[in-house]
Amino acid sequence: MENIQGLTIINTGNGKGKTTAALGLALRAWGNGLKVLILQFIKGNWKYGELKAMQQLAPNLVIRQMGEGFTQREQEAESEKHRLAAQKTIEIAKQEMESGCWDMIILDELNYAIKFGLIEVDMVLEMIALKPKQMHLVITGRDAKEEIIACADLVTEMKEVKHPYKAGIKAQRGIEF
Ligand code: ATP
Ligand code: MG
Repeated sequence: MENIQGLTIINTGNGKGKTTAALGLALRAWGNGLKVLILQFIKGNWKYGELKAMQQLAPNLVIRQMGEGFTQREQEAESEKHRLAAQKTIEIAKQEMESGCWDMIILDELNYAIKFGLIEVDMVLEMIALKPKQMHLVITGRDAKEEIIACADLVTEMKEVKHPYKAGIKAQRGIEF
């Protein structure tokens, strides 16, 4: 039997490409017959283009939008709702890992949920510890915590060199949505 070593992969940094690189991995994995689950911590982050494409890849690729629409500008009064949603998503991620149904799980914007205090780092470390040996786990989002980087196998930091928004160029079809 093939000797599979499941990796913990982090896409972080301030440059564009963290989520789209994770999607590229999902596509590559799907093409190899792997089963891929994507859980999205920040609702609305996935765009029409990739959602439409991914629907064509079911049932070996499943995406679930879990968040409650958290943005950095949210009122403090609402943050409990977002905390509960994020924590529930971690619980679902754990259950899905333990189900043994998936070869790859992508947790999109998990780092963001930690950064804004929706989830404790320790909860995430506990979850990573449950990862089945043969399953790949991909975590995206800016400002990955050192503790999480420390237990990963593959960490890539996207670095902004230029971004069209800074030059006043608006979001382009096929690039941003
Ligand atoms: P993508 O989904 O395009 O791969 P990402 O996952 O690396 O982007 P996020 O932090 O999730 O980036 O933010 C998503 C949105 O923020 C996208 O619209 C992206 O173009 C924009 N963005 C990412 N990096 C920058 C940047 N350095 N300056 C301005 N906007 C950015
Ligand atoms: Mg992203």
